[in-house]
Amino acid sequence: MSQTIRNVIILGSGPAGLTAGVYTARANLQPLIYHGPQPGGQLTTTTDVENFPGFAKGIMGPELMAEMQKQAERFGAEIIQKRAIKVDLSKAPFRITFEGDVVEETHTLIISTGATAKTLGIAREWDLMGFGLSTCATCDGAFFKDQEIVVVGGGDSACEEALFLTKFGKRVRLIHRRHELRASKIMAERVLAHPKIEMIWNSTVAELIGDKKTGLTGAILENVLTKERSEISCHGLFYAIGHTPNSDLFKEYLKLDENGYIIPKPNSSATDIPGVFACGDVQDHVFRQAITAAGSGCMAAIEAERYLASCGHE
Ligand code: NAP
Repeated sequence: MSQTIRNVIILGSGPAGLTAGVYTARANLQPLIYHGPQPGGQLTTTTDVENFPGFAKGIMGPELMAEMQKQAERFGAEIIQKRAIKVDLSKAPFRITFEGDVVEETHTLIISTGATAKTLGIAREWDLMGFGLSTCATCDGAFFKDQEIVVVGGGDSACEEALFLTKFGKRVRLIHRRHELRASKIMAERVLAHPKIEMIWNSTVAELIGDKKTGLTGAILENVLTKERSEISCHGLFYAIGHTPNSDLFKEYLKLDENGYIIPKPNSSATDIPGVFACGDVQDHVFRQAITAAGSGCMAAIEAERYLASCGHE
């Protein structure tokens, strides 16, 4: 158990957590940032990031996160890799237990644990992630100009991604495991009417073809009714089968929506517990961008700083 009560503990080291780290460190609050199971967050699974302002030539996702980490450390943020396994937010100071029986106490907690894109769990997924396989059309769509693109899923995300990807792809094939889209009527109608989108019903992706060297070159599809398999060629394959917000640890204490996203107060990162703030994808199912996560991390840091000042913990 640590001897001192920290001013700020940040859980998660994606763009939200590290931005909160930069701001709270510059405010001289000596934040302690705990990396979760995926240090750097979802951006570490992408390659080129072309839409983060300030990098005209683009930057590799892992490099962007490494730079953000150095920036936070430069101002005194301490970064530790340990997974939080339990929190007690019933009273301040808040108590967080990490694996290895490490316990920390803190006056403020910034939750930036992110969300995890669901994947199919088939072979070669983790080799090809960032090499043709992606979970974010906004991030990676532009790499597949005039190429064959496949989207997997049947909800609003899959429809939104398929429609967005028509700007780039020669053709977009939407693969859905049933014969009817789950998406809202308006989104489904747009997809079904789009001349560049082709539906492949009752099917799933059984295998991915390619390796890190060639990138993704195709996929084997399986018809779930007939079990018939067929090979298609494609260079970009996007999973859009939903995200899981990493909010399980907090569900006993914080208001979550029906999909598990933390609900902060309007126009704020504050939760219903004074001193506990949420930022990034764990509270955002709408935008899910590195820049919006970073922006919300900045909000959380400023709000935590103001809260600490109001309690006299400076
Ligand atoms: P979702 O609604 O849960 O849809 C997930 C889709 O992926 C479903 O069609 C599901 O198939 C399919 N799927 C799930 N697991 C699969 C698997 N293992 N293999 C193959 N397919 C699988 O998720 P979402 O589309 O990300 O949307 C999440 C929430 O955000 C929804 O409430 C949605 O309305 C909202 N959203 C809104 C907008 C918008 O309004 N613009 C945009 C995006 C998201 P089944 O249909 O067979 O279950």
